[in-house]
Amino acid sequence: MDKRDFLKGSATTAVALMMGLNESKAFADDSVPRTNWSGNYHYSTNKVLQPASVAETQDAVRSVAGVRALGTRHSFNGIADSQIAQISTLKLKDVSLDAKSSTVTVGAGIRYGDLAVQLDAKGFALHNLASLPHISVGGACATATHGSGMGNGNLATAVKAVEFVAADGSVHTLSRDRDGDRFAGSVVGLGALGVVTHLTLQVQPRFEMTQVVYRDLPFSELEHHLPEIMGAGYSVSLFTDWQNGRAGEVWIKRRVDQGGASAPPARFFNATLATTKLHPILDHPAEACTDQLNTVGPWYERLPHFKLNFTPSSGQELQTEFFVPFDRGYDAIRAVETLRDVITPHLYITELRAVAADDLWMSMAYQRPSLAIHFTWKPETDAVLKLLPQIEAKLAPFGARPHWAKVFTMKSSHVAPLYPRLKDFLVLAKSFDPKGKFQNAFLQDHVDIA
Ligand SMILES: Cc1cc2nc3c(=O)[nH]c(=O)nc-3n(C[C@H](O)[C@H](O)[C@H](O)COP(=O)(O)OP(=O)(O)OC[C@H]3O[C@@H](n4cnc5c(N)ncnc54)[C@H](O)[C@@H]3O)c2cc1C
Repeated sequence: MDKRDFLKGSATTAVALMMGLNESKAFADDSVPRTNWSGNYHYSTNKVLQPASVAETQDAVRSVAGVRALGTRHSFNGIADSQIAQISTLKLKDVSLDAKSSTVTVGAGIRYGDLAVQLDAKGFALHNLASLPHISVGGACATATHGSGMGNGNLATAVKAVEFVAADGSVHTLSRDRDGDRFAGSVVGLGALGVVTHLTLQVQPRFEMTQVVYRDLPFSELEHHLPEIMGAGYSVSLFTDWQNGRAGEVWIKRRVDQGGASAPPARFFNATLATTKLHPILDHPAEACTDQLNTVGPWYERLPHFKLNFTPSSGQELQTEFFVPFDRGYDAIRAVETLRDVITPHLYITELRAVAADDLWMSMAYQRPSLAIHFTWKPETDAVLKLLPQIEAKLAPFGARPHWAKVFTMKSSHVAPLYPRLKDFLVLAKSFDPKGKFQNAFLQDHVDIA
């Protein structure tokens, strides 16, 4: 334990003692690392509870004065942090398929990669996946995590019902069919309503896919063809380092049942078909990436960019992402491009993706078909934090919404006007958490949930 962790641990104990709370050891688990996946964020508490059932989650929530749910720790900021305790969901990973209604109910801590294999074996698939299969379903949905595809909503749009433990330990279930508006406010919940224990997801018959990569697509092609380019497959991603006015790689993922096994043309909007496997970051080994070169494979081995048993992306890195209205996407890209010479030295790669509009109040794509402009940064926190206000200023005229789980500097005064249902969300959160047990500094800074 380093000095900083020790001081944080002492502070936590002191807070608990001051509040007259029992230091309950039930479900305590000291095996959960005290940093996020990337290592750029140190959590402020050493107290982690790891319940293995809904009843244990109720007891765990009741035993602490303040707490945040914790999934697979893949967020890059303090959204999952707590001064007092975290509840790891990783033991909540049961799977119950209802083939008749095409739904699956899962424990919130299961990773998409583990769920996908089980679903596929029974003939089912999810509509989309993020770039990596390593993340928990609960954590991904809480932050509106997304993949790409003009017709594909983020991963939370597959949710049909959400079960969670509120601040007083009571269990609630909100469903799309029964609870309409309140359901729409609860799914992308930012951990503010409670600890989600189960989610029911819409599934569909399993499908197969292929993936091809093109090299060097000129940005000038995006001016008049952005919808065709992003719609050229079921899921399309453009990668750029912002230099030379081009996307260095275009990843096109096609469904075989939509003609995806046909031979790809050698040229695509002046880009050239790659003949070897590539990583989005050119000098990284492509073996970590899902298969390319138009080979057919199951949906869950093509939709993510990275394989489950390899390190996704770079490893030590920071990430940032902004969502702009899709129909203003080209202008937004050009606005960011003006900063290329200050961005590129600190950047591994930028990814551009399409996300369909949805009705989930706190989703970055709420009521807005979106272009998501993502940055994978080198682990250079000071430089990135200095740069972000410049990028945020360039994207402000587009009403850019920052990804909840990534690094950004916009405070709640800038974030709040971007979410028309934010006030309703705060009221909804308060109804399940009147005393602010699930609040933390991130929510106070960026969502004004105090
Ligand atoms: C290499 C890498 C690639 C990524 N690629 C993508 C991508 O393609 N698309 C994208 O959109 N994002 C991407 N992300 C971001 C990632 O999807 C989000 O950080 C997501 O929240 C990760 O889920 P998690 O389980 O790790 O959440 P955590 O980081 O553990 O938690 C995130 C938030 O969710 C809350 N939460 C977690 N579980 C629960 C629960 N059961 N109940 C209530 N609240 C809960 C936490 O309190 C916290 O507020 C990537 C991240 C990494 C590291």
